[in-house]
Amino acid sequence: MKVPLLDLKAQLDPIRDEIQAAINTTIDSICYILGPEVEKLEKDVAEYSGALAGVGVSSGTDALLAALMAMGVKQGDLVVTTPYTFFATMGSILRLGAEPVFVDIDPVTYNIDPQQVAALLDDPAIAAKVKVVLPVHLFGQCADMTPLVELAHKHGFSILEDAAQAIGSVYPVQKNAETVWKAAGSIGDAGCFSFFPSKNLGCMGDGGMIITNNLDLAEKLRILRVHGGAPKYHHAVIGGNFRLDAMQAAVLNVKLKYLPEWHVGRRRNAQRYKQMFNQASLVDGGYVSLPAAIYEDQAAQRSGIDYHIYNQYVIRAEKRDALKEYLLSEGIGVEIYYPIPLHHQNCVTDLSLSTMSYPETEKAAKETLALPIYSELTEDMQQYVVDRIAAFYK
Ligand SMILES: *Cc1c(COP(=O)(O)O)cnc(C)c1O
Repeated sequence: MKVPLLDLKAQLDPIRDEIQAAINTTIDSICYILGPEVEKLEKDVAEYSGALAGVGVSSGTDALLAALMAMGVKQGDLVVTTPYTFFATMGSILRLGAEPVFVDIDPVTYNIDPQQVAALLDDPAIAAKVKVVLPVHLFGQCADMTPLVELAHKHGFSILEDAAQAIGSVYPVQKNAETVWKAAGSIGDAGCFSFFPSKNLGCMGDGGMIITNNLDLAEKLRILRVHGGAPKYHHAVIGGNFRLDAMQAAVLNVKLKYLPEWHVGRRRNAQRYKQMFNQASLVDGGYVSLPAAIYEDQAAQRSGIDYHIYNQYVIRAEKRDALKEYLLSEGIGVEIYYPIPLHHQNCVTDLSLSTMSYPETEKAAKETLALPIYSELTEDMQQYVVDRIAAFYK
């Protein structure tokens, strides 16, 4: 049996006609950059995420870059994030001449550890230079935001959420003894989405969006994405070409309707894996540990809460590298996210901060493996994955 890591064709087949029609309409509109399709997407994604505004941009990377620019990040500023994320999180900081300051991850969620952010900010010299804290909602589960929001109030930095892997994923905020679920990207000052094809909401090329509740920031972003021209040909600031094109927006406008059910499918598959792994005694046996959905219990009060959207289903595994090779040879698509922590990347070896150690990040980089989790995966395919993993260890 073949089980790919992701099967976009299986997702496309049932909606191909609808997408084809949307593309044809866009072709005939002769409006290819920004325009009504992009505006509709911005409105709908903002609404879906409970934010006041959305600004469509050319990629998730450009969303991060433009958002940091709009927040005024410049040379000499510090931006706090983790070294266990996709390169773009750090790349966008470095491209502005700012310095990434890493703190280690929480080993359970792989997300930023707020206690370590607090400890870092205890140093007044560092706190004075921190302009932005950039939590990443890795693999589709929100980072612990409440303590970060409290620190932001205390120290006056902005929070930019890298929600590239977490569109629609929600986080429990306590308000007057009640739980309010807030969506990724809407909790800090702004949040960034990627519409790269392998994300839960993916287009047929590159695309991204920033959402925010700060309408001034949204306006700045709209200006930055057209080279800083406002009005056209008048450049008080330097921006870039960060525009989203209409064709991608048209595809996304079709797909956004299906996103909630795809999230449900991924979560169902995560539950099935849990049963199958336990049945095979792979967890008790200490061979693998499964991803923890830390907000699941709280979400049980109501149905339909996207407490985790499983952009990736990431296990920790004994003899990870050998298991990876074995599964690939058995026709199962697996991948390591991420094999090389960012502080080890050659482009940052000049930074003094790259010499610091991040034990949980190092450990995760050696132990984790992503398994297929996409919504259209069948029970048989999942059983095959778990059977092959059991065969490897026994
Ligand atoms: C995918 C991703 C990005 C970048 O998005 P692109 O659309 O590929 O530019 C940034 N951060 C994280 C965590 C991502 O997973």
